[in-house]
Amino acid sequence: MGRPRVAVVGVGTMGSQALWQLATRGCDVTGYEQYNLAHTQGAAGGETRLFRTIQVEDSGYVPIAKRADEIYRQLEKESGKRIRDLTGALIMGSSSSGDMKSAIDASNANPDGTELFSRKESKKKFPEYELDKDDISILDKGGGIIYSENAIRQATGLAVSSGAKLREGTVVQALEETSRGVKVVSTEGIEQYDSVVVTTGAWMAQIVPEVQDWIRPRRLVSMWFSPKKERKLSSMLPYLRVRPTYSYGLPSPDGKSMKLGLETSEVDEVKFPQGNEYIVPDSIYEEFSRLIESYHPALSHGPKKVQSYYESYTPTEYEYIGPHPESNKILIASGFSGHGFKFSPAIGEIISDLIVKGETEHNIEFITKIQS
Ligand SMILES: Cc1cc2nc3c(=O)[nH]c(=O)nc-3n(C[C@H](O)[C@H](O)[C@H](O)COP(=O)(O)OP(=O)(O)OC[C@H]3O[C@@H](n4cnc5c(N)ncnc54)[C@H](O)[C@@H]3O)c2cc1C
Repeated sequence: MGRPRVAVVGVGTMGSQALWQLATRGCDVTGYEQYNLAHTQGAAGGETRLFRTIQVEDSGYVPIAKRADEIYRQLEKESGKRIRDLTGALIMGSSSSGDMKSAIDASNANPDGTELFSRKESKKKFPEYELDKDDISILDKGGGIIYSENAIRQATGLAVSSGAKLREGTVVQALEETSRGVKVVSTEGIEQYDSVVVTTGAWMAQIVPEVQDWIRPRRLVSMWFSPKKERKLSSMLPYLRVRPTYSYGLPSPDGKSMKLGLETSEVDEVKFPQGNEYIVPDSIYEEFSRLIESYHPALSHGPKKVQSYYESYTPTEYEYIGPHPESNKILIASGFSGHGFKFSPAIGEIISDLIVKGETEHNIEFITKIQS
């Protein structure tokens, strides 16, 4: 028997990691990407993503983040490039919120890797962040910044060095199970594979319409703000403010601005993710303005840059990693619901386990149980 022939459709966040893992495990793997590599239209655009070891969503993600952390280090070592800056990250929010309670539990379980601050202590130590009356903050020392576009570039580069083929600017139009495997129909022609991984993010329903009712694209807006004249950003850490006052922020790589994101009061579900020339409505500007007013005394109003990106969501906000509803030869990994980047190297490993061995040692039962 020859090497398994595998196609990865969508070489973005998850696809690039899967491509690398599959190539190093000896698969004859081809990645299809509709745009250029590390483009800024999908879920990875905007230069950076937050890495944290504290998982407020579900403690099941802790070992996944731990494994991702190890693979990020390997990626940096093998590529010789900087993928992350582990500056530490702040988790802030009301001490009575469910998410903050989970963060406190995570902090108690890892006292060396975290530090908890009362509101008063936090305001003294991190004066750039205003807090509400019953807020506290936790410093996640192992957290920091991921250079998202670079992570995709380097993982794909290592995949190609290990023998993977990359088809950029190639749109996959259809997948068809055959007696020999799966036929991939793309703008470059038709090819046959033993199995296919679909990591098309927000474009999932275009290629797998069977999932369109529960894996849906959303448009998320990021805005970059400059510091006030007398303030510097050098001491501003990346942060997550937990629900119900959710927002997050990351200092830009040039140190001149802070990128902020929030949950807008209306979910911006789109039918089809196309282009990011989107005219942001006034109501969203107002929500960002209120965020600055309430929590960011060091930042000036009026963004210096505004951009939108597409991400796939499920109703439970747990991703789907499992078979295509009509074919066991096609594996889907999508619906990462705004939190998937930090886990992506481990997700790549899980995908390659499932393709190569049909099972994974990672505990993903907490995810699959919810989605079944
Ligand atoms: C604004 C924003 C901020 C976020 N912040 C964080 C954060 O701080 N921390 C964190 O952990 N997570 C964060 N996330 C979530 C995280 O970025 C996503 O969960 C993750 O990037 C999803 O990866 P993906 O592979 O599913 O999608 P993508 O990275 O978008 O990859 C999908 C790829 O498939 C390609 N494709 C689609 N259809 C086809 C086709 N038919 N043929 C060929 N190619 C195709 C697309 O062009 C794209 O490159 C954020 C997301 C957004 C949008």
